[in-house]
Parts: sequence; C-alpha cells; structure tokens
Amino acid sequence: MTTRNEPLDLEAYRRVLEALRRRIPKPQFETWFARTRLLRMAPTDLVLAVPNQFQQEWMTREYRGPVAAATEDALGHRLEVRFEVAPAVEGKLVGAAAILSGGASVLPTASAGASAPAVPTSSAPAATADGPGTTAPRGGSSPASPGTIPFAAGAPGGLVLQPRYTFDDFVVGPSNQMAHAAARAVADDPGTTNNPLFLYGAVGLGKTHLLQAICHEILRRRPGFRIAYMSCEQFTNEYVSAVQRNATEAFRNRFRNVDMLVIDDIHFLANKERTQEEFFHTFNALYQMRKQLILSSDAPPADIPTLEDRLVSRFKWGLVEKLEQPETETRMAIIRRKAEWLSLHLPDDVVEYVANNVRNNIREIEGAITSVRSRALLERAPVDLTLAKAALEATLRHDQPAVGLDRIAQVVAAHYGVKVTDLRSKKRTKSISLPRQIVMYLAREETGLSLVEIGAFFGGRDHTTVLYATTRIAEVVAREDAFRAQVERWKDRLRAR
Ligand code: ADP
Ligand code: MG
Repeated sequence: MTTRNEPLDLEAYRRVLEALRRRIPKPQFETWFARTRLLRMAPTDLVLAVPNQFQQEWMTREYRGPVAAATEDALGHRLEVRFEVAPAVEGKLVGAAAILSGGASVLPTASAGASAPAVPTSSAPAATADGPGTTAPRGGSSPASPGTIPFAAGAPGGLVLQPRYTFDDFVVGPSNQMAHAAARAVADDPGTTNNPLFLYGAVGLGKTHLLQAICHEILRRRPGFRIAYMSCEQFTNEYVSAVQRNATEAFRNRFRNVDMLVIDDIHFLANKERTQEEFFHTFNALYQMRKQLILSSDAPPADIPTLEDRLVSRFKWGLVEKLEQPETETRMAIIRRKAEWLSLHLPDDVVEYVANNVRNNIREIEGAITSVRSRALLERAPVDLTLAKAALEATLRHDQPAVGLDRIAQVVAAHYGVKVTDLRSKKRTKSISLPRQIVMYLAREETGLSLVEIGAFFGGRDHTTVLYATTRIAEVVAREDAFRAQVERWKDRLRAR
C-alpha cells in the first residue's frame, strides 16, 4: 500500500468514467473523453485536461453536468467539474492509459487504437479492445462494454500503451534484473540521476515492455505527468514530413512541454544524419530542463552504425543497461505467467519442454504458448507433452544442430585444466565439482536436454542434483560480473563451432 493518494484518485476516476459511460452515448463518450486526462481530483473538485480551447468550451457547455452527475453516481458525492486546456504533444500524451491498465485486456496495435476522430460523429470507431470478461460484440452501435474505456493517445499514428506492459507483468530474472531495476528507479524518480536511461538488447527481450512499464507506473502515481512516447521511426517520419512542410519549428516546440520523452528503437537513427541532428537538439533541450529521457536500442550506443559521437556520449551520460537472453529458469517462470494469463493449464513437463526448446526470445515463447493453446482447443484435449510437441513441431528450429554435452564438457574441462572423464565420474573434490556444475548449467542453457538427461550424462545423477547445480551457478552468474562475462565467452565459443 502506498502512502500517496494519487492511485486512489485514479481508481475513483476510473469509476467516474464508468459511470459517465452509462450516462452518455458511446460515440460521444469515445469522441470527447478519449482525449481528456485527469489533471486533479480533490475532495471537492475534478479537473480534466483537454487539448484545446475549443474543446474546453464545448465540453464545459455539454458535459460539465453529466460528468458531475457521474461523480455522484460513482463516489456518492458530487464534485465540481472543470476542464482546463493542457496542450498535449498533439495527442501523444498517454494520460488515460494508466486508467485502462488495470485490466488484463490486450489492446489492438498502436495504429488501430489511435484513430479517435477529432470531431464528434455518430459512428465513432470503437478504438479500443474489449476488456476482460466482455461479451458484447465490438462495433459502432453496440453498448459500451465493461472495461472498455477509450485510450487517450489520440493523434493518428500516436502510440498507445499496452495495458499488459506493466512492472507487475514483467518477470524478473538474472537476465533482466539490472534493466528492470534501472527502469524502476526511473519510474520512482524521473528526471533526476538516471538520465537518460538507455536500455538495449536483442529483439523480443522486453525493451518495449519495460519502457511502457515506466510510463504506466509514472502515470499511475502522477496522472498529470506529460509523456511523449514514440518509436524512433515515428520521430523520424514526423520530422521528415515537418521539413517538407516547412514546419520544423512547430515540430520542435511540441517537445518543449513534455515532462518525459520516450523513444523506442533509437537504433533507427542509424544513417539518418538530419534526424540525428534534430534529435540532438531535442535531447539537449529536454536534458537541460531536467526532463527524463528514455531510449531503447538493439545495440549499445557505440555500436549503432553511424551514430554521431556526440549522441553516443550523451546516451552514456545516465544509465545504460542490457537485457540478456533469459536463462532456463526465467523462461520457465515466464511461460508459467503467460499460461496463467490465458487460463491455460500447463503441466510441469510441458513448461520444461517449451523452456528447453524455445530459447531465443520471449516473443517466440509467447508464440509457442499460443500454438499449444490453439492445438488444445482444436483437439478439445488438455495440454500434455505429446500435444505440446505436436503443436511446436512446425515452429521449432530443426536446422541448427544442438550443442552437445560432450562439447560443453570439453570446453569447460579445458578451461579448468581437468579431464572430462573426471567430470563424469563420482568424484566430489571441489576442483571437479565446480566445473561439473558449470557444465550442467551450460547444458541447461544451451541444449534442449532435460534435467534427467543431463544427470544421465554425469553417471546417472539425480535430476535434483542437476537442478541444484544450475540454480547455484545461475546465482553466481547474476552476482558476479567477471564470472558472467566468462560464461558469455563460453557460450559464444559453443555457439560459434
Ligand atoms: P523488445 O521491445 O525488446 O523487442 P518486447 O518488449 O516487445 O521486446 O517483448 C516481447 C514480448 O515479450 C512482449 O509481449 C513482452 O510482454 C514479453 N516480455 C518480454 N520480457 C518479459 C518479461 N521479463 N516478463 C514477461 N513478459 C516479457
Ligand atoms: Mg520493442
């Protein structure tokens, strides 16, 4: 429980929105309230932010009464309602996102979710996905379904936050705990020491998820916080179009009013000289105002091709953290969590099978679980190992021969100057048992073998012994940088072959 009262306000505001939705027709609700944000909610009044004066006048005239009535419905007492103009970055603000994030519903992709019209129409598109437990059909004239509140990231092309991309739904393990901690720190205290935050890692490892989790968390605590969130591609496209329209000044000004700028996939700046130049100025302006900057990339700053040195050095001013490939245990935890969301029961051997066979990234893990689920639905059968294997057959990569245990044992034995035969023997001396545990750990990481199979290689050791070894080594990997680096070198060697 937090001592701040903003989250409570947000919950109350959610109830007000829900009450309001019952009071006014859906198209109007979506048209007008998709773009309003909660500015303040005090014991006696409710202040909502709207993007411009026109909307302020219109909403004051048309909706002040209904909103006040809705506060009464929802809270049991009537609040004084006001609308204030808070110029957003052309609708890039994601204020109401936090309000929607309570549900575990999945929103449509950014472009689909961001098409709220600027004027009222009688057939406003349903801009959001249905919430959990919703049975109402989607579409213009269906009644508003429970849990469906429009998103406030209005402008065409504007990004919306995925409700699911929160800290709560992010599984933390050795591979991502540093990045996660950094993201948390920024969410706790934006614009201070960890500025900019630069997260990098291969595709599908959770960069976007963490970026959005920061936004969710900040908005949960400070609903009025102004966040501009966009992909680097979007930044680039809009800049190019501003240049063509001779509107670079306006483009620039849009960023001067935000409290935080989040740009996903900044490596997209590679080979784009003029956009880099523009971004450099945006960065400086915001940084000087002590506004938080958050960037993600598929590579560390210095490795982004053609990125100017002055940007590289700025990106390193704050905190740079890497997302690594998740280890087996983390993959298993993620699989369990994702299955839970889908209300899909996965037996342990299936969890282990998926974790052992889908190793590259978390998006692939999600795909695998979806395949398993579809197959179970199709066959109207509960999930078991046979079903999971059949479901994943097509998607698993058979092209790459797995790294063998023999090879792993050779590499590690050579490093420690011991014999492979000793590793596989019953010997328990320390000089043997550490490398043995490392081989078990690497086998778990780099091969598709089960605990039992790995145990068999080591003279029929019990699977719990293997589990103990891998857990212990994973802890050392998480704790000790030098050892982690060594493990990475072993992995590289094993993969190179
Ligand atoms: P990236 O931006 O690095 O390519 P994403 O953030 O899009 O990766 O993540 C891909 C998918 O994996 C998303 O659905 C995300 O929710 C999920 N995911 C990534 N990391 C985690 C994690 N640690 N826990 C739970 N889900 C995760
Ligand atoms: Mg991403």
